[in-house]
Amino acid sequence: MTVRVRFAPSPTGYLHIGGARTALYSYLFAKANNGKFILRVEDTDLERSKREYELAQVNDLKWCGIEYDEGPDRPGDYGPYRQSERQEIYKNLAEKFIQEGKAYYCFLTSEELEELTVKAEAEKKAPHTYHGKYRDLSLEEAKKKIEAGEDYVIRFKNPGKTWAIKDIVRGDVSWPVDMVGDFVIIRSNGMPVYNFCCVVDDAMMKITHVIRAEEHLNNTCRQLMIYEAMGEKAPEFAHCSLLVGEDRQKLSKRHGATSVTQYKELGYLPEALVNYLTLLGWSHPEEKDIFDINALESFDLSRLSKSPAMYDIKKLNYYNEQYLRALPVEKMVEGFETFIGDERFNSQTQEWKEKFATLINEKIQLFSEAKDFLDLFFVPGADEDEQYKEAMSWETTPQIKEYLKAELSKVEGEYATEEDVGNWMNYLKKELKIKGKPLFMGIRVCLTGRAHGPDLKGVVALSPVKVIKDRLEK
Ligand code: GLU
Repeated sequence: MTVRVRFAPSPTGYLHIGGARTALYSYLFAKANNGKFILRVEDTDLERSKREYELAQVNDLKWCGIEYDEGPDRPGDYGPYRQSERQEIYKNLAEKFIQEGKAYYCFLTSEELEELTVKAEAEKKAPHTYHGKYRDLSLEEAKKKIEAGEDYVIRFKNPGKTWAIKDIVRGDVSWPVDMVGDFVIIRSNGMPVYNFCCVVDDAMMKITHVIRAEEHLNNTCRQLMIYEAMGEKAPEFAHCSLLVGEDRQKLSKRHGATSVTQYKELGYLPEALVNYLTLLGWSHPEEKDIFDINALESFDLSRLSKSPAMYDIKKLNYYNEQYLRALPVEKMVEGFETFIGDERFNSQTQEWKEKFATLINEKIQLFSEAKDFLDLFFVPGADEDEQYKEAMSWETTPQIKEYLKAELSKVEGEYATEEDVGNWMNYLKKELKIKGKPLFMGIRVCLTGRAHGPDLKGVVALSPVKVIKDRLEK
């Protein structure tokens, strides 16, 4: 048996990070089992589905490195892979169900449905209790109504049994007989509903494992009925736990950026995002936290956690930081060029940019944060915090300042060098006998206007001499 797993997004918005996580799990599981990973686009909601969203989701999956074997743009043996192009299949099967007595035409109007809901509520019964009014209408009678122009839906005839699965994540799950009634499979506009076409496609596409969000767990009950009516064996199910914010509520826009597109635009590295998402509800067999998802040899679904996974942006930033540190300097520069958005950086030479990248690599979690360091090189002013004031109060500091002023006026190029800084320090130590904190801190506040910062030699080598001179004047 070849493992076949699918990701089945609805193109009604951008790829949610929860969706990306489900896609990742499916992809990793298929890969670990030499199986196939399929992308199926569930676009039967005509009003909300947009091709633009489909393209954005596909791009985001690819950006995350989640490659599928079959999909709308990757032909395979089980296409088409877009539900809007499979309408005939659903219609024919619904007709077949009608012929076999497994489904029927239903003519309940929306007003009648509302009345029935009120009635059921008054009797403390489930709303679907009275949905079966046309269950036993003969096919001839139904056809007559259709010919007379009456609107109809197609309802599935619930066989009235209990249903159960052994979910890979949630264990034994069962649903009582009266959990659902006769449910709609084809709407009055002729479009199939999710619970119907999802199963038709999963069965026809030979899907062996359905890995999806916990919110679909209860849909499984209706879906099992469709598998049975089709004479197909249901796949294995793994319903992944919910992603929640720090307030333990389902992750939503309220919690900040929730789409992959947003993270891409904020400058996060895809490797960091997928590494973090993989660990949101799954644990590495060797308890590793930083790893290349593509190097995983196994992906055991039994390691998926049952409890909700808490999404923590601080943790994601930590992952991003780890991946930034390992980035080749040219890549780092490219990231800065895209995300700093400041002429003071953009107008520099490649050499300057690379030195800058090397200098601040360990100080940032995101490309965009590098912008905060530019003042250090280009603004003559000072950061007058307590430690700065203390350093300025030492009697040796004015001596250092006067010496540096004289030395800087001898520098010929636009920048002093790291070697120059080394020489200045030696002179201050040997000739002026300044040592320890008064030396290191004193020279730093004079040259950078701050008591703290990245490697002093590196900062000086990247700051125009003119700026340092202005700073000393101030
Ligand atoms: N189109 C459904 C969704 O986006 C798919 C659910 C499933 O995986 O069965 O939620």
